[in-house]
Formats: sequence, C-alpha cells, structure tokens
Amino acid sequence: MAAGCAAWAVWLTINLMEDPRGPAGESRLRDESYSHDESYLRMALDLAREAEQTGEVPIGAVVVYQDRVVGRGRNSPVATSDPTAHAEILALREAGAALGNYRLEGATLYVTIEPCVMCAGALVAARVSRLVFGARDLRFGGVRSKFRVADAEVLNHRVEIVEGVLGAECTALMQDFFGGRRKNSG
Ligand code: ZN
Repeated sequence: MAAGCAAWAVWLTINLMEDPRGPAGESRLRDESYSHDESYLRMALDLAREAEQTGEVPIGAVVVYQDRVVGRGRNSPVATSDPTAHAEILALREAGAALGNYRLEGATLYVTIEPCVMCAGALVAARVSRLVFGARDLRFGGVRSKFRVADAEVLNHRVEIVEGVLGAECTALMQDFFGGRRKNSG
C-alpha cells in the first residue's frame, strides 16, 4: 500500500512538474512540426530539381496525408504541352487517385514556390487543409503576393498557409534557373 502511494506521489510530482514547462513543450512541438515540414519540402525540392533537368521551371510539390506521401508532382507544362501541368496540380491528381477521393481534407500540400491562382483554386476545390511553401512568387503568386485565393474570407473553405520553409533554397533554385537561361540566350 505504502509502495502504491509512493508511486502515485511520483506520478503526481512528474505531472505537476510538466505544467510549468508548458511553453517549452509548445515550442518543442513547433520545432518538431517545422522539421517535419522541412523534410517534406526537401522532397518537393528534389522534384523541382528533376523538373529543372528536363528544362522546365524548377517547381516541385508533394501531398502528404497522415504522415505519408500520397502525391508527387514536378512542373512539366513544356514536356506535356499542357498549360495546367503545374507541380501542384499533378501532385493533387496523384493524391486523389491514391486516396480514391477528390476531396483531400486533412492533407497538406508542400510546394517550393507560392502557387499560382489556378493551383490555389485547385487547393480550395480539393479542400486541402494546409499549404506549406518555400518562397513567394512576386509575379504570379495566388495566395499571398498577387491574390489571397486560398484563405479568402468569401470562401467556404480556407487553407491554412505556412510560408518560408527552406525559402532561401527554393529561391536560389529559381534564380539559378532564370539566371542560367538569360546567360544562355544572351
Ligand atoms: Zn500553378
């Protein structure tokens, strides 16, 4: 009996001790979700590099559902003669097919560059829960730079948006690509 009481006291002490550590625990959780985001965004960066190798603008995307990659896409409108073949659209298509559902509630889309208006609209139509992107697209960006399509107040579904994950690497890839192209054509 006495031993049982002692064990309970230890349990209580440990649990009470955790309370003051609340803020530290929260930031630890944030760190963990950031490193999760970072590792999925790294996969998107690999797909962006694949796109670059085939002469396409280097953008890559993955869709993650329940901590599993269910869709991948690399930008390929030139190779497919398809103006809608953006990385996000291809990743969403693959995810829908993998899950057998055109609605992707609970899924997160990771993409290296801010989605355009078309892709932002597709995210809303698919009811994607979260969007994580690396760097803004100041010319065509549809969720922050030019428009705010994915989380506009007038919509019945709003996507939670996180930006700036591996932003420097995503920007560098684009700058190298367009810089290289200018050099080649000049
Ligand atoms: Zn797009």
